[in-house]
Amino acid sequence: MSQDYYILKTLNMEEDNIHFYDEFVKEEIIDGKRSLVYQAYLTYIPEYCPKCGVVYDEKIEKHGFKNSLIKIPAVSKLNSYLSLNKQRYICHHCNRTFTCSTSIVNYGCNISNNTKHSIAVDLTKKISQKDVAIYNNVSSNSVERVIDSYYDLDNKVYKNILPTALSFDEFKSVKSADGNMSFIMCNVKTGKIIDIVEDRRLNNLIRYFARYSRQSRLNVKYIVIDMYTPYISLIKMMFPNAKIVIDKFHLIQLISKSLNKTRIKLMKKDKVNYNKLKRYWKNILKYRLELDSSKWRKYTCFKDLTTELDIVNYLVSLDKELEETYQVYQDLLYAFQNDNLTVLEETLNKKYNNISEYMKTSIKTIKEYTNYIKNTFITKYHNGYVEGNNNFIKVLKSIAFGFRSFLRFKARIMICKGLINPKLKEAEIL
Ligand SMILES: [Zn+2]
Repeated sequence: MSQDYYILKTLNMEEDNIHFYDEFVKEEIIDGKRSLVYQAYLTYIPEYCPKCGVVYDEKIEKHGFKNSLIKIPAVSKLNSYLSLNKQRYICHHCNRTFTCSTSIVNYGCNISNNTKHSIAVDLTKKISQKDVAIYNNVSSNSVERVIDSYYDLDNKVYKNILPTALSFDEFKSVKSADGNMSFIMCNVKTGKIIDIVEDRRLNNLIRYFARYSRQSRLNVKYIVIDMYTPYISLIKMMFPNAKIVIDKFHLIQLISKSLNKTRIKLMKKDKVNYNKLKRYWKNILKYRLELDSSKWRKYTCFKDLTTELDIVNYLVSLDKELEETYQVYQDLLYAFQNDNLTVLEETLNKKYNNISEYMKTSIKTIKEYTNYIKNTFITKYHNGYVEGNNNFIKVLKSIAFGFRSFLRFKARIMICKGLINPKLKEAEIL
């Protein structure tokens, strides 16, 4: 094997037409940094003139070299470049000149394709766009162009296939997004993000789903949602075969909020027990069977030894409204956790004298959605994955500053989640 072969191997490049000079690497200061500059030339006999299409003959002659300095991935942590002399030809059939081309760098670009690949791989890590630019010795703009190129790719990939079970949710988006909230669609069975839509408002989503074929929409059997009414209109219109499933997490969140507000209302009235009601809020929300009743110990704000269960019993019995609201909360929690429709319906239809207005509103909401909650109990589908994705988005937003444009933000999420494979169509980037 030749020297060329081993150097190219080290630089992770594949190109038969590149040849290195005897002194194949020099150290130079570029942009104030110690850098390695590999010295090579590119030459081959063309099959035809790319300008006029005439097949190679003696009237197509060598015509000097054109040099370009190409950024390549760092070697031994030093910024590295390939100083490439590209063979030029003159064609006497058309009197025009042309330059040899190579797959390692695109025409008119000074960043090698494997650098772009390295940028794409770095984008899957939880580091800021700025750091990706620094690690790869390129400008922030170049990083953005790599992200953009993947965004287009994503648009080509996902068009007409939808899984049988979907989930819809939303998250707070970037400032530039049209709606306050953006829409996120996942595959319920795998938890994978299918797409992110900038604006979750109904008209926008109808327009968005109209892009999918009718057949792919008819194939969707279940859609998990929170209790956001426009989703129901959307599903009835665009997914006539889909059964609506209400996400359990959101149901529990709804009743927790009602109980919490009831507790705060009492806390503001009852100055004597203010600190106790404030400190033990989590215990009140806990599923009753999970409260400990065996370990007697000293608890802050309580004089005598007591147990977790006794504390909750003490607090909820302070007030009739809190006590009854707590009971309803526990019954509903039981029904949700055990997929028990009978307990749910009994609890919803009982007459209550003392429950808080907050819990009354929640009961009314749950009643409206009971038919869909049945599907929750039967399918056991939930949005847990989506919540995980939402947390991930939060982390990404906090570390990756400067997501001004929604499309880039979205592309970065998709790249990080491995939904766009950086190895795919590598040569097409930029
Ligand atoms: Zn020609």
